[in-house]
Amino acid sequence: MAVKKLSKEKLGEALGELSKFRLIAPAKSDDVVVFKQIGDAGEAFLGYGNSTVPPKKFAFPQTETLFRFVVGNPELNEKNVEEEGTTVIFGLRPCDARAMAIVDKLFSWDFEDPYYLKRRELTTLVGMACVEPPSVNCFCASVGGNPFGTEGLDMLLTDMGDYYLVQELTDKGKKLAETLSAQLEDAAADDEKKAEQMALDAKGKIRRSIDTAGIPEKLPDLWENELWKKVSAACLGCGICTYLCPTCHCFDIQDEVEEMGEGRRCRMWDSCMFGEYTVHASGHNPRPTRKERTRNRINHKYSYYPEHFEVIACVGCGRCINLCPVNIDILDILDQVVDAS
Ligand code: SF4
Ligand code: SF4
Repeated sequence: MAVKKLSKEKLGEALGELSKFRLIAPAKSDDVVVFKQIGDAGEAFLGYGNSTVPPKKFAFPQTETLFRFVVGNPELNEKNVEEEGTTVIFGLRPCDARAMAIVDKLFSWDFEDPYYLKRRELTTLVGMACVEPPSVNCFCASVGGNPFGTEGLDMLLTDMGDYYLVQELTDKGKKLAETLSAQLEDAAADDEKKAEQMALDAKGKIRRSIDTAGIPEKLPDLWENELWKKVSAACLGCGICTYLCPTCHCFDIQDEVEEMGEGRRCRMWDSCMFGEYTVHASGHNPRPTRKERTRNRINHKYSYYPEHFEVIACVGCGRCINLCPVNIDILDILDQVVDAS
């Protein structure tokens, strides 16, 4: 696949060209950075660390109507995801793209989710390599990723100073490069070598790490271990760690009857850190306290997911560490798992 370059002077023109699609890019919103649909290249903010909310919501919306119905009428008015159009997510971090590749495994597993999979088919992911790790709590390199990782991406941009190095990674990325043929130029012969060295340097700047070897196998033996009570003691049950996690994918489905017997079936994000998440109709709750919920969260990511899909469902983005209001740190929990006997 070809390697090109995009001069920073032509970035606005390139984004203008891409805005014929549904163009999603990082943008400032008050004092945080979020991914949103932009109509004007000037709204894009590429000098960001990482977004507070991961871009997963453009494949798996926080709330979506699956279909509308009229009570008593068997015909359903199903949502047509294709109407949302071809989407380009521009400038996402390699860990967030890798997270989408990990979540794809779930949504195409025993039931193929038509809403999610159609959106993924219509979406091209253009990554921005992390020349500097965006956060002190990044640990992607410990869980199979890296700051210049390409898994899940169709195209990768690397900030080389006055220009971006543009690597096509898939057929979708190649097609996008054709769309940008007026803005892209041939890369210099030594650009790829320079980028390889930058990738090594970036990996070396990651400050936090965990040796995950043996953790998936060890977790089932720690089911009754006292560590779960200890690591969950401060938890407020707010669910931010899961809502903002790029690999978390739990949802609830509800029917809402509106007026005149019409209604909609919608699904919305849910969190295993919420008390009601596992309440049975009888009132029994198999995960009655935050101890069981925290144990589930860690087991789900580091034991159940690897068992089913052979990959840890954590990409080391560090969001759950950065944003937990009581400073619960997944790496501290994993350290305790490693030390437990
Ligand atoms: S963000 Fe922190 S306090 Fe909130 S549910 Fe997660 S671990 Fe608990
Ligand atoms: S568990 Fe935490 S560090 Fe891992 S992917 Fe989710 S938010 Fe990022």
